[in-house]
Amino acid sequence: MSQLPLRAQLASALGRTAATLSRATGRGDGSVIGGRVGLMLEPDLLRKLASDRKLALVSATNGKTTTTRLIASALMELGEVATNAFGANMPAGHVSALSGQKHAPFAVLEVDEKYLPEVLDTTNAGIVTLMNLSRDQMDRAAEIWLLAQKWRRALAGKPAHVIANCDDPLVTWGASTAARVTWVSGGQRWREDSWCCPECGGPLDRGGSREMGQQGSVHWACRECTFHRPEPDWILDGEDVIDPHGRRWRLDLQLPGEANRSNAAIALATVDAFGLDPARAIPRLRTVTSVAGRYTTVERDGRAMRLLLAKNPAGWLEAFEVSDPRLPIILSVNAQGPDGRDTSWLWDVDYRILRGRPVFVTGERRLDLALRLDVASIPFQLCDSFDQAVAALPLGRIDVIANYTAFQQIRTEFGRAV
Ligand SMILES: [Zn+2]
Repeated sequence: MSQLPLRAQLASALGRTAATLSRATGRGDGSVIGGRVGLMLEPDLLRKLASDRKLALVSATNGKTTTTRLIASALMELGEVATNAFGANMPAGHVSALSGQKHAPFAVLEVDEKYLPEVLDTTNAGIVTLMNLSRDQMDRAAEIWLLAQKWRRALAGKPAHVIANCDDPLVTWGASTAARVTWVSGGQRWREDSWCCPECGGPLDRGGSREMGQQGSVHWACRECTFHRPEPDWILDGEDVIDPHGRRWRLDLQLPGEANRSNAAIALATVDAFGLDPARAIPRLRTVTSVAGRYTTVERDGRAMRLLLAKNPAGWLEAFEVSDPRLPIILSVNAQGPDGRDTSWLWDVDYRILRGRPVFVTGERRLDLALRLDVASIPFQLCDSFDQAVAALPLGRIDVIANYTAFQQIRTEFGRAV
C-alpha cells in the first residue's frame, strides 16, 4: 500500500489510541470510538484507508457477520486481510478495521444495509456481496423495498462486481443494476417479505424445486412482468456447492445449518472473484467454528449450552432450523435500543415448531414472549433470570436462542468466546 497523507496518518493513529483507551477502560472493543475519532479529524479517512486495497463489502439482513468472517478466513490463503470482525458495521467501524490493518492488501467489510450506498460511494469497493433482505424488528416490506431501491441506485454506473443471492427476489432486484453480477442460488427460507414483484408489484409465482429435478432452490417469476429469477452461476445443493464449471464441492462446515451453508456458498463465489479457487478456500471455511460467540457451546453446572442469536423473524426461523428438536430450549428476549423497543415482531415468528420440547422463557421482555407462546398453545416455564432458567433444566445439552442484547448479556456472563 502507498503511504497515507500525513493528516490521514495522524487521524488513523489518534483513532487507534482512542480505541486502546476505550478497551483499557473496559468500554468495549473500542472499534467504534476509535473510528469516530479518526473520522472527526479527517472526514475523508475511510476513502483513503480503502484505496489501494482489493475490497469486498458484505451486506444482508441476516448472516452478514458470519459471511464476512468466512470470506476473511478464506482470503487469508492469499495474504493479510483487514476486516471488522466484531460486527461494527458502520463507517466508524470500517475506519477502525482498516486502520488497524494498514498494510493488508485485502479487506472484507460487513456493512449495515442502510449504509451500503454511502460506503460503496466512499470506498469504491471492487466487490459487493448481497445475501438477503427481510423485515428487521419493526421494518416492513415497504421499507426494505426502499432499501433495495437505494442499492440499485448506488450500484448503477459503478464498476463493482456484485455477488448476489438470486433466490431472494428483492436482493436480485437490488443487485440487477450492477455492471456485472455473479448469481448464487443460496436458498431463501423466509418468504413473508417477497410475495410481490419488486419491479411492478404483481404476484410472484414460485415453482420448481430440487424434488422436481431442478437444481438450485426454487424458481420464481413475476406473473405480470418479465422480472424473474436469473440463472445461477453457483448453486447450493444440500451439503454441496456446484461452481460455474459444474464442479461439485462438499462443504463439511463446522458451523451448523442450511443458513450457514448458504453463507458459505456465497463466500465461495466472493473469494472466487478475488481469484481464490474453492479447493483452497473450503479448508479455510471449515476452520470457522463460531462467529462472535454464535454457535459457541458454554458449560455451566453440568449443562452444555449452545448459543444461537436471532435478531428478527427470519433469524428465528434459521435458529429453529439449527436447533436440535430433542433438546430443551431457553428463549431470551430483550427490547433495548439495538433490539428495537417494540416486540410486536414476536407475532411474525411461528413458534409452533417448539411444540413437544421443554421451553424456558427469560429476558427483560419475557412476558411479551410468554403471551405469544400462550396464544400459540406452546407450554413453557417462565423464569425471572437466565440463571434461574439454567437451574431449572436437567443436566446435559441445551439450546439457547436470544436476541441481540440478551445474547450479549449471556456472552458477557460466560466470557467473550469468539
Ligand atoms: Zn413484475
